[in-house]
Amino acid sequence: MSILTSLQLILYALVWGLGCAVHREERPALLHWLGFALLAALQAALVAWRPEGPVWLTHTGSNVATVFSLAFAGRGVLVFLRLRPPDALWFGLPLLALGVLLFIGPAATSARVGAMAFFNALLLGAVFMQARPAFLAEFGRRMAWIATLPVLAQLALNLFFVGWGLLQLPLDITGAQAVPTATWAVALVSAGTFNFLFIFLVALRLLNRLREQASRDALTGVANRRAMQERLHLEWERARRYGRPLVAIAVDVDHFKRINDQHGHAVGDRALQAVAQALQAQVRETDQLSRLGGEEFLVLMPQAQVAQEGQRLAERLRAAVAALELRGAAGAPITLTASFGLSESQPDDADREALLRRADQALYAAKRRGRNAAVRWSAELAGATD
Ligand code: GH3
Ligand code: MG
Ligand code: MG
Repeated sequence: MSILTSLQLILYALVWGLGCAVHREERPALLHWLGFALLAALQAALVAWRPEGPVWLTHTGSNVATVFSLAFAGRGVLVFLRLRPPDALWFGLPLLALGVLLFIGPAATSARVGAMAFFNALLLGAVFMQARPAFLAEFGRRMAWIATLPVLAQLALNLFFVGWGLLQLPLDITGAQAVPTATWAVALVSAGTFNFLFIFLVALRLLNRLREQASRDALTGVANRRAMQERLHLEWERARRYGRPLVAIAVDVDHFKRINDQHGHAVGDRALQAVAQALQAQVRETDQLSRLGGEEFLVLMPQAQVAQEGQRLAERLRAAVAALELRGAAGAPITLTASFGLSESQPDDADREALLRRADQALYAAKRRGRNAAVRWSAELAGATD
């Protein structure tokens, strides 16, 4: 059984080694897990060597390997979550365990196993406490529960051994030459679960990043047109179903061509980034700012009234852009303003594009009225697009 476990863990180590070779970004965490799998394999191999091998290796050595393998796995999880593992704890505890296990020696079985289990439980508790908030934030509640299971199984097993060591129960659980099958089963299943879970999470993180990139505008980092269409679809359906209004604010930077012409495209790009930042700072978490292309942006405000929140936000956005202090290539100040067109979804809208068409009509009206202005759509503006 222990030879099989060892082979299985060596296979895991190979997987993590392969991961290190192909996935540079997660290499620090993967190296930790490679260490985890190798040490766990070593531990199982040392147990398999009982009773022929020297007891300092097959007993004390295997216990030390167990503690260090858990330390590698746990620290790897924190590294993977981009947390800073407190080194005093993650290096200190295993080293302390090493000292204690050397002190106890291989003969005193219950004290030795109890001490090993005690340090294991501490490490498991530490990774649980330190990783859980970041884990929840990135992967959500369901994944957090799944990840908790192997930790809990290991924790339960180790607490059992701590109790056994303390109480000196008359169970012959480490008797003869072997460790009971149940122990191997828990070890194998939790190591296997850990392995597959984190391979899955590495892939999930990549997938989330791709999805994120596909919906972001590369220059400004705000949502792109595609993401806006998706959100509009959702919010428009919601607005219709629950009879709640939805506000769109179309934004277009004034005389942007001049900035490009006078200061060059690079300065124009920086100006667009500054505008996006200024707009983003004003919108609520539940609103969406997107860049539709060029110097055109759109704000979607679910559950808002155009005459109230809409108008207020547009005025704040206008003031925020006008207050930007930008400098051109030669240090010359650049004045920047933008125009805004507001519209609100209406019960008789045939499609969601109608909302955007009206926002555009209002935007053109703002341009005609001299720019640096916010205009609300009204029936007189219909068809006045130039
Ligand atoms: P107005 O809207 O006030 O009528 O004038 P405008 O000069 O802003 O009008 P227009 O929409 O014709 O010009 C938009 C300019 O934006 C044209 C193009 O050179 C510039 N532009 C579009 N996309 C980008 C970009 O990604 N980076 C830079 N630097 N400029 C861009
Ligand atoms: Mg434009
Ligand atoms: Mg413009």
